[in-house]
Amino acid sequence: MTRAKRVGVLAIQGDFEAHAAALARAGAEAVLVRRAKELDGCDALVLPGGESTTIAKGMERLALYEPVQEFARSGKPVLGTCAGAILLAARVENHPVRSLGLIDVTAVRNAYGTQVDSFVAPVDRGGAPALDGLRCVFIRAPRLRDPGPGVEVLARVDGAPVLIRQGPCWAATFHPELTDDARVHALVLSGV
Ligand code: GLN
Repeated sequence: MTRAKRVGVLAIQGDFEAHAAALARAGAEAVLVRRAKELDGCDALVLPGGESTTIAKGMERLALYEPVQEFARSGKPVLGTCAGAILLAARVENHPVRSLGLIDVTAVRNAYGTQVDSFVAPVDRGGAPALDGLRCVFIRAPRLRDPGPGVEVLARVDGAPVLIRQGPCWAATFHPELTDDARVHALVLSGV
């Protein structure tokens, strides 16, 4: 029998516990990561949703920028959801935060406005077949713009990219960890 995939979840702030539970539903073992050395032995990494400014400050304090960049450059999958997607983007607009620059895309923070803070919407038809009918939970979500040529758009909602991928790095503007549909986590882990 092969061992369960070990997936680190950055546990500075945000809904890392929900990701740990979602990973368990996808058959993986979740490891909470707060120090660079805790990345050793992880097959993949999740950057959760939360508040990107707070998570960025914590990453700075814990000197995690370079280790996470190296982790991704070694080819291991990194999934960023919502605030985590902002942290993966090359460019951040509307109160920029220091990002990892691992996906050639612009993330516009809080782009769905302050009135409609949260909503659930199904993915548009015609995205990745594995995600047909997926319902996405958006909470003060960013919008992804100007994906570069190396970026694959796997799912859209109302025409806007909501799940993208560049090499091992995946960014979702929604919260796949908040539903019991484990397909996004499973898709990210399918190559591990
Ligand atoms: N609005 C948050 C930010 O800019 C992200 C919200 C979320 O992760 N649910 O960091």
